Amino acid sequence: SANAPEVPYVPTPEPTVEGMLSLAGVKPGDVVYDLGSGDGRIVISAVRNHGASRAVGVDINPERVKEAQDNARRASVEDQVEFRQGDLFDADLSGATVVTLYLLPTVNERLKPKLLAELKPGTRIVSHGFDMGDWAPERQTQVDGRTVYLWVVPEPG
Ligand code: SAM
Repeated sequence: SANAPEVPYVPTPEPTVEGMLSLAGVKPGDVVYDLGSGDGRIVISAVRNHGASRAVGVDINPERVKEAQDNARRASVEDQVEFRQGDLFDADLSGATVVTLYLLPTVNERLKPKLLAELKPGTRIVSHGFDMGDWAPERQTQVDGRTVYLWVVPEPG
């Protein structure tokens, strides 16, 4: 959309992908959403390496979506993953149990109210590189010099 933020495509290195999904504690039963899913590596690893039941990627760039779908087929996980073309700010996040992010500080700040409004209590959010302003993370860790942050959506009130 005209208001879509301009976040460049920069893939998360594979060890950091594994660190993000481990910090989130992804396990069977989880439904993982990667907002701005690039080549699909986080979505694919969530299912293939961490046993997530399903994973969904949203990317505004149709070329990235096509590439991610090709990568999912190559990894034989196409039945458990879905890549949607669109603005992540328009995506319905209510089905997620884990959300992963590698965006920009300003985009995380803008996204915070949507995350808190749409995600179920207990949903885990992990971000590579960027924090969430005044929402202090529950944990943070370093993977290969990259910082990875974890938040857990609180009960309302
Ligand atoms: N999540 C992937 C990873 O960590 O490897 C890719 C991260 S890359 C830094 C950010 C991605 O977000 C790019 O693929 C870009 O096309 C996408 N993107 C940027 N703005 C977006 C928006 N408003 N809605 C959906 N995707 C967006």
